[in-house]
Amino acid sequence: MPDDRNHPGTDPRTLDPIFSPRTVAVVGASRKRDSIGFALLHNMVVEEFAGAIYPINPSADSIHSLKAYPSVAAVPDPIDLALIAVPKGAVPAVVRECLDAGVRGLVVITAGFAETGAAGAAVEAEIRDLVREHGIRMVGPNCMGVINTDPEVCLNATFAPTPARRGSIGFVSQSGALGVAILNVAADLGVGLTQFASMGNKADVSGNDLLEYWEDDPETRVIAMYLESFGNPRRFTEIAKRVGRKKPILVVKSGRTAEGARAASSHTGAIAGTDVTVSAFLDQCGVLRANTIEELFDLAVALDRCPMATGNRVAIVTNAGGPAIMATDACVNLGLEIASLSDETEERLRSFLPAEASVKNPVDMIASATPESYARALDIVLDDPSVDLAMVINVTPLLSNPIDVLESIADATHGHDCPVLAVMMATEEFYEGIKARGDLPPVYRFPEPAARVLAQLSRYSAWRRRPADELPPEFDVDDAAVARILDRTGDGYLPAADAYRVLELYGIPTAGWRTAGSPESAAVAASDVGYPVVLKGEARDLVHKSDVGAVAVGLEDADGVREAARSIERRLEEAGQRVESFLIQEMVAGGHEVIFGISTDPRFGPLLMFGLGGRYVEVFRDVRFGVTPLTRPEAEDMIRGIRGFRLLEGVRGEEPADLDLLADILLRLAQLALRHPRIRELDINPFLAAGDPDAAKAVDVRLKVGEPPNPAG
Ligand code: ADP
Ligand code: MG
Repeated sequence: MPDDRNHPGTDPRTLDPIFSPRTVAVVGASRKRDSIGFALLHNMVVEEFAGAIYPINPSADSIHSLKAYPSVAAVPDPIDLALIAVPKGAVPAVVRECLDAGVRGLVVITAGFAETGAAGAAVEAEIRDLVREHGIRMVGPNCMGVINTDPEVCLNATFAPTPARRGSIGFVSQSGALGVAILNVAADLGVGLTQFASMGNKADVSGNDLLEYWEDDPETRVIAMYLESFGNPRRFTEIAKRVGRKKPILVVKSGRTAEGARAASSHTGAIAGTDVTVSAFLDQCGVLRANTIEELFDLAVALDRCPMATGNRVAIVTNAGGPAIMATDACVNLGLEIASLSDETEERLRSFLPAEASVKNPVDMIASATPESYARALDIVLDDPSVDLAMVINVTPLLSNPIDVLESIADATHGHDCPVLAVMMATEEFYEGIKARGDLPPVYRFPEPAARVLAQLSRYSAWRRRPADELPPEFDVDDAAVARILDRTGDGYLPAADAYRVLELYGIPTAGWRTAGSPESAAVAASDVGYPVVLKGEARDLVHKSDVGAVAVGLEDADGVREAARSIERRLEEAGQRVESFLIQEMVAGGHEVIFGISTDPRFGPLLMFGLGGRYVEVFRDVRFGVTPLTRPEAEDMIRGIRGFRLLEGVRGEEPADLDLLADILLRLAQLALRHPRIRELDINPFLAAGDPDAAKAVDVRLKVGEPPNPAG
């Protein structure tokens, strides 16, 4: 798929002729009702385009009661936008004709270009070059078109059957077919758009251009994207990090399912796949990822209507116990905290709620709650400084109208600067009735989607609170020495001793070690290391040593070492391997077993991994990824983001791990990976993360080198 490597550099205003034209030529307009050429013209007309429409068709005098012209050149007025839907063979000539006629923007609907193979790609490149030479912009080819709901413009230059409603979301879709579905969902949810663009093959205009187009547009409060690929991840990062500070960017990225097994033997390589990479990448850009289009709109509505969250503590106000329990579970599972309300708040609630109500969070007002009790309770709860977010649940009771409840919630929310979501367990009629009501809080049918949205709101505002100008730190290390070691191995795993040397050169603490060639010399080396020691048998293709019994821990003396060495020799032989050398290592006591990893992605470059380590990494997969370059807050996010983070903080009297040291190691590894592209995979598993920084050490490392992949866009 073409990207914007040869990008002319965007002035977002160059898209104005496409989104806000005053004159539009529909090239390929047709009288045949079931054709795209008819649908395009029809939509332009019925959506009441504010400018003039010129159907272009060599064999019709008029179409849709508009005078038709045989060619663009024959139109007497200047044309801002040409909408092209002619057979693919005719497209290059039509584009030339448009350029000659001084058309200022193009939308090419016609398919059959890069998506069909090399020949199509060549024609597409030719068209793109032509367009760029003339300094104008083109959307498509192979797209569904563009929409601008601005009442001054009213442009529906698509063949979609569903009209778009005016609103504040800018939506860009890479897929045309999905574009139709998106417009349907948007209409069903009563969600409005500012502009919509279906990108198609992105020959010229890409999602990045749209981000910049919406960056300073006051009407577009939320940007939503459906993406299948990233043309140019570096440029996306740069733009998304900048634009995301002004308004939220939401992405549905398809291709979430695991890729086919990749040829990776390290833990990091086995867990890393395209999808986790994409998620890590989007996270770091501050972009919010949704799983489905519906989830995307759930989130978009909340981002549009709610203020920024101040933290992650949630208050739940309900009239039924069951849904509140579900809400609590969902929030906790997503890493949100259930706010603990102050005594004063509880007292104020107690003063007017019935005795059977619960004034602790979740605040359960029981089934007799009226719209007034909702307003009062919510107002009190939002006054509490320990509340950052709120979810208000209403199960329609027998006697009151849920719309009154929702309006009370809206009233109470107005006086506070806090995101409030409503969960209304109500009838379809209720939902029909609130469709066009942009003045109400975001409404969800169930607690779980609402909890997901709260978690995203809290994450996005945390990202926004971070300093924007953070740069990756630089560590002063002997990179030449590292390169010499890496170059000693042509392709494959470094000998253990070399892998440890690389860590040491990069300032990553390792357990003291020696190597030895025989059980006898292992015993000698052990006294250098100092008892107790750990003995490991190393063999070229042996990746997970303890699987075959090649690790002996807690050896106290020379006899123990000799004996263990012989039995490791035996076991490896039984496993069809041969001990190439022994590693005698300082026995490290205590510390949490964590894993650090590096793997590489052909698109995104080196990836870092952090998580709970040990033998069961691939079973628990409690890991987080980060893309390089990595900043300190990003490294800290990776560490805090694992599910088992509380273990590292120390539970049940255990000492906490030194978290600064862990972040420091991630940053050092990020530099190592960026500066030494021959590194294909690295696992430090485990690193024993003790509280005392002098006791925290790497005790196992595997490092694989090879040819760097071709640098990607
Ligand atoms: P494998 O190739 O199986 O991953 P490791 O070197 O990681 O082999 O050893 C397996 C386990 O033995 C580690 O997860 C750790 O629990 C323990 N271990 C290994 N080396 C040491 C050490 N130097 N000090 C303490 N425990 C160790
Ligand atoms: Mg290991």
